[in-house]
Amino acid sequence: MAEQEMQTSVEQELLQLPIVQYAWLKIQDVTFSERVRTICRQECPRYGKSWACPPGVGSVQQCQERCGRYDGLFVFTTIAEVQDITNMEETLATRGGHEEVTRQLQKLFGECGLETLALSGDSCAICPECAYPEQPCRFPDRMIPCIEGYGIVTPLLAEKAGIVFDNGGNLVTWFGLLFYRAR
Ligand code: SF4
Repeated sequence: MAEQEMQTSVEQELLQLPIVQYAWLKIQDVTFSERVRTICRQECPRYGKSWACPPGVGSVQQCQERCGRYDGLFVFTTIAEVQDITNMEETLATRGGHEEVTRQLQKLFGECGLETLALSGDSCAICPECAYPEQPCRFPDRMIPCIEGYGIVTPLLAEKAGIVFDNGGNLVTWFGLLFYRAR
C-alpha cells in the first residue's frame, strides 16, 4: 500500500478512537539526546527497574538505531481528566487507557500491512512486579517502552508535530509514538 493511501486508510478509522491530536512525521524529525537519559538516571524512580526503561531498553544509540529501521512515525495524544493533576498516583493511573488506544492503533496499522514499534509516556505497569533484570519480559508483545527512556526529546517532537504538549488544568496529556514500516 502506498504511503498516502495508507495514511488515508488509517485516518478514516481514527474517528473511532479517542485521539485528540495526531501528526505524520519523518524519522529524521526525532531528536535523541543523552541528556534525557541522564534525567532518567538521576530523577526517575523507574530507572533500572523495568524492561520498558533504561538501561533495559539499551543505550540511546541503540534506541536511535532501532527507531531508524522504520520508515515513518505517527505521533498522537490522548487526554484524561483527573481530580488533581499534582497527584502522581491518580495521574499515572490513567496510563492504561492511553496504552489501550496505542494497542488499537497498532492493530489498525497491522491491518494496513505495517509492523510498528510503539512508545508511550511512561514506564510499563502490566505486571505488579517487573521481571527485570533476572527474567525476560513476560509480555514482550504488549509491553510499551517509555518515550523518554529512548532518549527522545518530547517537547521538540511536539513542536515539530504541532501538537499541544500540555493541555493545562487537571488534564493529563499522554503522548504516543508509533514507528511503522512495511512488513
Ligand atoms: S510486561 Fe511485565 S516484565 Fe515486561 S516490562 Fe512490563 S512489567 Fe516488566
